[in-house]
Amino acid sequence: YGDYSQKIDYVFKVVLIGDSAVGKTQLLARFARNQFSLDSKATIGVEFQTKTLIIDNKTVKSQIWDTAGQERYRAVTSAYYRGAVGAMLVYDMTKRQSFDHMVRWLEELRGHADQNIVIMLIGNKSDLASLRAVPMEDAEEFAQRENLFFMETSALESTNVETCFLTILTEIYRIHA
Ligand code: GDP
Repeated sequence: YGDYSQKIDYVFKVVLIGDSAVGKTQLLARFARNQFSLDSKATIGVEFQTKTLIIDNKTVKSQIWDTAGQERYRAVTSAYYRGAVGAMLVYDMTKRQSFDHMVRWLEELRGHADQNIVIMLIGNKSDLASLRAVPMEDAEEFAQRENLFFMETSALESTNVETCFLTILTEIYRIHA
C-alpha cells in the first residue's frame, strides 16, 4: 500500500481547534477522504490524517490533527500543538457562542504554538444559510484585527474545503520552504 517511489519534500503539521460539534472532524474527512457523515463520532483521543499534495512542484505531506473530542473536557494538551506550523480555528456559523469562543481558542493557541504559525479562521456549515448567527463582517473584522486568514466553508456541500486547506498549506510553504 502506498507509493514508495514518491519523495516527500516537506511535512507540515496543521491542527484543528474550536468548540465541539462545529464540524472539525467532517472538514478533515472531506479534505482527506472526500467523505462526510451526519453522525457525530463517538471516539475520543487525538487523531490525525495525512494528505499529500503538490505545491510549487514539491511534494508536501500535510498532517492534519483533529482533537477528536478532547475539547469537550478542555483537555487539549501542549503535545497537540507541538510542531504545528498551521492552525484552523473553526466555529459554526449557526452558533454565535462558538464564534465568541474563538478569542479563547486563539489565546490558547498563541500560548502554546510557534510564533509564526499560520492561522485560518473558518466559519463552517455555510449550507445552513438561513440559520446564520454570525455575520460575515464580524468574522472578517476579527480576522483582520488578529491577522488571520478567513473563509466560510461547508463540509457537507464541500464548499471551500479544498480551497481553505490549500490556502493555509500554500502560505505555510511560502514561510517554511
Ligand atoms: P467536531 O466535534 O467539531 O469534530 O464536529 P463534527 O465534525 O463531529 O460535526 C458535528 C456535527 O455537525 C455532525 O452532525 C456533522 O455531520 C455536522 N456538520 C459538520 N459539518 C457540517 C456542515 O458543513 N454542514 C452541516 N449542515 N452540518 C455539518
